[in-house]
Amino acid sequence: MKVTQHIEAAKGETLFSFEIIPPQKGKSIQELYNNIDPLMEFKPPFIDVTTSREEFIYMDKGNGLLEKKLTRMRPGTLGICASIKHKYNVDTVPHVLCGGFTKEETEYLLVDCHYLGIDNVMALRGDAMKDEQSFVPKLGGNDFAVDLVKQINQLNCGKYLHDLMDVDDKANFCIGVAGYPEKHLESPSLISDLKRLKEKVDAGADYVVTQMFFDNAKYFEFVAKAREIGITVPIIPGIKPIAVQRHLQVLPQIFRIDLPEDLIHAVDQCKNNADIRQVGIEWAIQQSLELKAAGVPVLHYYSMGKSENIRQIASKVF
Ligand code: FAD
Repeated sequence: MKVTQHIEAAKGETLFSFEIIPPQKGKSIQELYNNIDPLMEFKPPFIDVTTSREEFIYMDKGNGLLEKKLTRMRPGTLGICASIKHKYNVDTVPHVLCGGFTKEETEYLLVDCHYLGIDNVMALRGDAMKDEQSFVPKLGGNDFAVDLVKQINQLNCGKYLHDLMDVDDKANFCIGVAGYPEKHLESPSLISDLKRLKEKVDAGADYVVTQMFFDNAKYFEFVAKAREIGITVPIIPGIKPIAVQRHLQVLPQIFRIDLPEDLIHAVDQCKNNADIRQVGIEWAIQQSLELKAAGVPVLHYYSMGKSENIRQIASKVF
């Protein structure tokens, strides 16, 4: 079932959903199940599975020659989606990236999604690699998320890249895209970024999931501005609980988001990690309750592979 159909069927009730990261290379899927199991009592209608690109570093072999080494790869987004879908009887949303893929490779991935009965995909550009100044698409790949949305939409119309003919069993993907209440880091302004978001929706995106934010006012302003320029699709807030002291530095640095002074102060007062986790949980509960009272369609949590704090939040909110 599509994410938008789940939202319609809920008739104004706020739904619970979350995002997981595939386990690291070599780890077992059981670890993932162990993190998903405690969250299933909150009946998520869909679960997102992220995708990451391969990253390489160049290591000096000692003789002046550099060796290219794979440092980070979390394969298996689609396999994980299929296995979760069947194990838990829940819809899954694979994240599909422009970065690292040609349009042909993307099409194969989408055809596989269709075979597997996956009805939703999240269309994203992806970030620049560590050794790139700015994002560089793969030769023959999509430049921006809007181009990927267009490609998915073409497939929904039964149009394949090299085989432009009608097919009986057309894909019918519901397409999610990213939105940024505090603007995307490369964008010159929030308004300019919102216009880009509108382009994604006009190209066929069915719903938006936001980047994490810690001040609900930012989300409410973002939604109001989006509605003003004619974006009418559901805008799902993304929530991430602070879990460690380091988040105070890295989250603003990586995502260019602001943290409220009260939250920084509360974390600074903590004596240990357990206290910081508790502050993060309490903050996310307050955010969630306010957003739910405002009637958001879904509360979407970034679990980052750990579910205990999400379980504690959900138990107070749902
Ligand atoms: P786009 O919508 O293409 O926008 C990128 C930038 O380009 C923006 O600044 C935009 O304003 C600008 N822009 C857009 N169109 C144009 C145009 N035509 N001309 C000029 N400028 C333009 N990353 C991953 O690697 N894996 C994941 O699984 C993943 N999941 C995510 C889930 C969510 C909910 C969010 C919010 C982000 C996720 N990301 C993920 C991160 C995402 O890939 C990065 O934020 C990336 O830098 C931008 O992706 P986008 O889809 O928003 O890009």
